[in-house]
Amino acid sequence: MSLRARLTLLYTSLVGGILLLFGIVIYQLVSINLVDQIDELLARTASDLVDSMRLNAVGELDMDLSPDLELATNVYVQLWERNTGLRFASASISHLREPLAPLDRLPAEPVYRTTNVGETSLRVLSVPLSLGNRLIGALQVGASLAIVEATQRTLLTVLIIGALVSMGLAALAVSLTTYQALASLERATSVALQITRADDLSRRIPYQGPQKDEIGQLIQAFNQTLSRLENLFNTQRRFVADVGHELRTPLTVIKGNASLLRRMGCADEESLGSIESEVDRLTRMIGDLLLLARVEAGKMPLDNRIVEMDTLVLEVLQQTRVLAQDRVRVQLGDIDQVLVCGDRDQLKQVMLNLVENAIKYTPAGGEVRVELGKTDDMARITVSDTGPGIPPEDLPHIFERFYRAEKSRTRTSDGKGFGLGLSIAYWIIRHHGGQIDVDSEKDKGTTFCVWLPLAEGEGDCQSEL
Ligand code: ADP
Repeated sequence: MSLRARLTLLYTSLVGGILLLFGIVIYQLVSINLVDQIDELLARTASDLVDSMRLNAVGELDMDLSPDLELATNVYVQLWERNTGLRFASASISHLREPLAPLDRLPAEPVYRTTNVGETSLRVLSVPLSLGNRLIGALQVGASLAIVEATQRTLLTVLIIGALVSMGLAALAVSLTTYQALASLERATSVALQITRADDLSRRIPYQGPQKDEIGQLIQAFNQTLSRLENLFNTQRRFVADVGHELRTPLTVIKGNASLLRRMGCADEESLGSIESEVDRLTRMIGDLLLLARVEAGKMPLDNRIVEMDTLVLEVLQQTRVLAQDRVRVQLGDIDQVLVCGDRDQLKQVMLNLVENAIKYTPAGGEVRVELGKTDDMARITVSDTGPGIPPEDLPHIFERFYRAEKSRTRTSDGKGFGLGLSIAYWIIRHHGGQIDVDSEKDKGTTFCVWLPLAEGEGDCQSEL
């Protein structure tokens, strides 16, 4: 059964149940009230009649109906005497020889009973009549319950019709409200199914209702999940394409050189060198890829210690000056004593990537400058160069895997770059609780700025990261 049908059934039964209870209570109250009114009439009449009673000359009970004692049309009276039986009956029941209510024994006190005489239901009050301590007879005053029954029937009809109409309205209201609410869910389900069938993660579920209600939030969450999945799939697709592309060139070179060697029948030094360098390149790329996969997934264990960044920067400069040779000047700018908490090898890898890039992309005669400073709680390391700068359209992408600005692909003839160095740096810094920014101006140069939380002491180093 659908949710809508279940909700409609539930609420309709609930309304029906409440109305049934309510109806029973009303019916009972009205019935009791009507019978009470009849009982009151009977009591009043009986009291008037008892007042009008006397014993005649022979000691028999007699009733003297005074003219101002008018019996209501539906009130019947019988006077029973212990010895002589029926002494008086009102005109409309003069033919009746039976008591209005069973009178096997004379009642010791007034008793109300509901009985049937023929087809008619009667409410009968039997009042004992006594002389001194001796019971001498009973007065029975009865009234037809026809009016009570008619009222009960009308009330029952009104209650049943009222209950049915209310249940119908409740069913309609619930059905309409749930239809509106569930229609959005049904639409969402059908779009979700279409997305699955068409394998199209670019679609989103439309929702016109209020964004803050439960369904709006559900659809928003679902759309966010779709965006994330779309991004992941696109990244993965791009990654596979990039890896394929990067692998093809060295493999073609290796295959070409190997075929050449076979044709020549002897080992040619140049071909062997080329094979070796391409194999080195492949090995480096696979190493970088594995490293990136690990840092990106946060699976790279961090050997957290206090790291003296000033010493580390000096080491990096010394190491990279070899690469710069006389082509580019590598300068050390302002340098503070700075302690951070982290994995020394990984932080060194970041610094090497940044400084090597700066040297690599800066033309001969240019300058690379490294500075180290600190603010209140952050260490700041800047690597700036006087290179060609990064085009604004490339800037937002340079930390993505395999991303290389178009010019860099052609400018660096050494073919050493894969577009992985900055991604690795980005993830390492991120896992150290820091941040890496870039600022670049065309033909003026590029500045990379790394921010890392300052270490307060050896003790809190393990827990900080
Ligand atoms: P690559 O191996 O190509 O250097 P990176 O991830 O280290 O890969 O850098 C990504 C891209 O960012 C480079 O291809 C280059 O286009 C650009 N880039 C990085 N550093 C610099 C820099 N100092 N000057 C100019 N461009 C740079």
